[in-house]
Amino acid sequence: MLPWQRAVWDSVGDLERLPHALLISGPPGIGKRQFAERLAIRLVCEHEAACGTCRACRLAAGGNHPDILAVRAAEGKTEITVDEARALNQFLVLTPHLAPRRVALIVDADRLNRSASNALLKTLEEPAAGSYLLLVSDAPARLLPTIRSRCRNLVLARPTEEEGLSYLKGHQIPDPGALLALTHGAPLRALAWPPDAPDVAARLVASLDAVASGGQSALEATEVWHGVDADIGLALLIEIAAGLARLTLTGTAGPVWRGEREARLRTLAARLDLEQIFRLWDEALEARDLMAAPLDRRLVWDRLFLHVEPRD
Ligand SMILES: [Zn+2]
Repeated sequence: MLPWQRAVWDSVGDLERLPHALLISGPPGIGKRQFAERLAIRLVCEHEAACGTCRACRLAAGGNHPDILAVRAAEGKTEITVDEARALNQFLVLTPHLAPRRVALIVDADRLNRSASNALLKTLEEPAAGSYLLLVSDAPARLLPTIRSRCRNLVLARPTEEEGLSYLKGHQIPDPGALLALTHGAPLRALAWPPDAPDVAARLVASLDAVASGGQSALEATEVWHGVDADIGLALLIEIAAGLARLTLTGTAGPVWRGEREARLRTLAARLDLEQIFRLWDEALEARDLMAAPLDRRLVWDRLFLHVEPRD
């Protein structure tokens, strides 16, 4: 179990009192899915404890328990479709194979499209005996209100900084403070990132500075950056834009930016005005959605770097 989830895990209490539908929400990268998976295992465990040793737990750990179904948007798709929701409905009304209960888990439940959400409503209104639905989302506001109102909410919190740092240190992360700050205190997100992400952020600042000072064109900088993992590259760029805005408006850039990184950011901030900074920020947020579509990443990066080119 993730150490910062112990208290909320204990708060779930008696399974007999657990509602049939639970919406597990909270910031990304803090272990919501892991929590839901563990709860699903507890619901099928022979000892109702996620003991890890009974047959049910061993099957579930391998992803092979016939009474647990995990649903998520298919690879390369952004939505969970009505067919997937119907399959889930059918799964939940069957008699359990092994366990006394059946559990369906929806990862990123905010991706349920409208027809899929509507298909789920009936299951939520009249749950079959012994059936449980666990919805996991970091954007619960995007769920249909009729779905939300039929679930009990369980909000998972970020770990404290101390818990996050100690977790990352346990995974031999060289600069856990910077990485944790970069991922907004989300340790699992931090672990999924390359451990040198803070250095990559510094190199991206250097590239932006080369463009902003006229030493390099947007096109030349694009050649360096278009091949980088789009999720991480854009998350870093968003963090840089936020740091630039904070630095310009308040004089301090925030916890990611310390020492050499902070000095580099300060140099770049001095070359840009607030309008450029906010445009870069906006465009980086938009680009995050664009990158999901199959288009030339060079174009996206080029447009981003163009925002910091010196103006005539
Ligand atoms: Zn067990």
